[in-house]
Amino acid sequence: MEVTDVRSYVVDADWRNWFFVVVETDEGISGVGEALSGEGLTAALEATMDAHKHYVIGEDPLNRKKINRRMMRYPFAWRGGKLISAIGSAIDIALWDIAGKYYDEPVWKLLGGKVHDEIPVYANGWHIGERTPENYAHHAEKAVKDQEYPALKCDPFAHYEYSLSNAQIEEVAELLEAVRDAVGWDVGIGLDCHGRFSVRGAIQVAEALSEYDIMFLEEPVELEDREAMAEVNRRVSMPVATGERIYNNATMNDVINEGACDIIQPDLTNYGSLAELQHAAEMAKSRYMTFAPHNPNAGVSTAAGLHLCAGIENLEVLEHMSRDVAWGNEVVRHDFEVRDGVIEVPDEPGLGVEFDEEAAKQYPGEPKDSHSLFDEEGALKRP
Ligand SMILES: [Mg+2]
Repeated sequence: MEVTDVRSYVVDADWRNWFFVVVETDEGISGVGEALSGEGLTAALEATMDAHKHYVIGEDPLNRKKINRRMMRYPFAWRGGKLISAIGSAIDIALWDIAGKYYDEPVWKLLGGKVHDEIPVYANGWHIGERTPENYAHHAEKAVKDQEYPALKCDPFAHYEYSLSNAQIEEVAELLEAVRDAVGWDVGIGLDCHGRFSVRGAIQVAEALSEYDIMFLEEPVELEDREAMAEVNRRVSMPVATGERIYNNATMNDVINEGACDIIQPDLTNYGSLAELQHAAEMAKSRYMTFAPHNPNAGVSTAAGLHLCAGIENLEVLEHMSRDVAWGNEVVRHDFEVRDGVIEVPDEPGLGVEFDEEAAKQYPGEPKDSHSLFDEEGALKRP
């Protein structure tokens, strides 16, 4: 079998574009992959994919190691950068899809088997719209009632940075109070800080909000300073989670060994390969840390996450978008869904998704100025 073509698709997904690749073979088997798109950089991903697909075309799609090595090591000037890691991930996921279809087995089995039949998920994206206690309460209740999510993540900190005034703390506390009133105390609440605080600010926030029983504090400070992250981790009572912007095991190794967090959150679509993610999970396991992949992505990334997480002993939870653009399921068709707070691991050959190239063309993603996580008022811009 030989790879004959690699096609990229940029799909509009409101506040960001999704980026998919389809890898075609001469045996009529094709696979689909996804790269982390985020904030309108899909044009750069597209160009990077075009410039690197010659490393894939003509190769045996079952020889992922060789293809991955070519993509990650052969480029020199930008070797190992985030863009190359992201397209490397997309290609790797597509190659696993092909391998599953070729061997007529689900990807989890080819990855080494599973210790979980169902994967716990938490909701992100639920608190779209106005940053008010009413909107937070309404959508929190809806996510838990309608979709049975056992945990919710939000970033309630608007555009605040470094540290908060008492009035700002009070404002954030009112949002969390509204969520607790709406969903009770059995539902987990994760707080994503998006790296915005100083060490002092992060500790101040954690102390002020600990009464809401926070399941994890995500990226309290910028990741570049791992000493700062480790200091926050030592000084706050809630677990610290980080890793969505780490895209290689050299950095992840440092984060783990320096005790910078309790939970690692690598993203499946920018980490280069599923094999590297398995390695990251093993490193975390050796230091009694858990694994909770970042996944604010589309259905291909979620499917890859389900297959990968199935075999991860120290799995904590997988992220999942509870609200997203309506055409997501048209572009990536799949049978899996959230039930009782979990998603069953798919058993179909490959990833268990069907990527509709015609549907993808109907919703082309354009570069937009507005591709950013927040609007001017600090509310999350989501559909
Ligand atoms: Mg995050």
